[in-house]
Amino acid sequence: MNDLIVRLAEKVKKYKGMMVLTGAGISTESGIPDFRSPETGLWTKIDPMKALSVTALRSDPAAFYRYLLNNLFEPAISAKPNPAHYALARLEEKGWVHGVITQNIDSLHYRAGSKTVYEIHGHMRTGHCQYCGRKEDFAAVMERAKRGELPPRCRCGGVIRPDVVLFEDPMPGTFQDALAAISFHRFLLVVGSSLEVAPACYLPSYAEEFAMLNKTPTALDHHATVAIYGKAGEVLPELVKYLENNP
Ligand code: NAD
Repeated sequence: MNDLIVRLAEKVKKYKGMMVLTGAGISTESGIPDFRSPETGLWTKIDPMKALSVTALRSDPAAFYRYLLNNLFEPAISAKPNPAHYALARLEEKGWVHGVITQNIDSLHYRAGSKTVYEIHGHMRTGHCQYCGRKEDFAAVMERAKRGELPPRCRCGGVIRPDVVLFEDPMPGTFQDALAAISFHRFLLVVGSSLEVAPACYLPSYAEEFAMLNKTPTALDHHATVAIYGKAGEVLPELVKYLENNP
């Protein structure tokens, strides 16, 4: 067993459990591209800050929908949770994880069985009309987009938007709840995030101690108690195994 995984497990025991913050990296092993991985990240094609912003939705809603459909919605709808998502659900069941705070909009934590999930950037299960606020099932909206209705509109004429937090949107109340949970539980594990998107990147500073699990280094690694470089789908099942054998 990797020494760093043992150190991480011992921290989890010391704090009697942890909060987990996940980013797009936890879902790459499910086939959903992240933003910043070299070569495969969406950033290599087009700046997502521009494509997935409030300004983009207002100025060219058809292009916004095409980008969302091809790069996030279609990959997410056909994806399945991977061993990393299942490992976090198992750790929650066993009492080692108090909750998962995710920047992801792919719903894979819920689909893996996690119960306490803070979706601080929203999700693509529902959408709403920007004018009248009418709620919509977002899969049905995307079916209309696929059939060429670009952008999909509400019966009042307003453009429908997904219930995701776009660049330039304010943060939802869930963000404050996530912050409070980190302060309360004190230990945080960050998985698969470059920590370059604000304000999510400030969350580790609310923990007494935090650990990092990422494929590549991040700017915050030197503040982490433990920094593990590896694939989430390989390391997290090892952590489960260790904690189950050494409770
Ligand atoms: P990011 O792309 O900036 O960083 C991802 C990090 O994960 C990288 O540092 C990469 O090295 C690492 N990584 C990649 N594969 C990994 C693996 N198998 N195991 C461990 N680490 C791995 O992502 P971010 O920090 O989450 O910020 C991007 C923003 O884009 C977030 O707001 C997120 O909501 C959004 N986004 C979401 C999805 C999704 O819902 N799945 C996908 C793309 C982008």
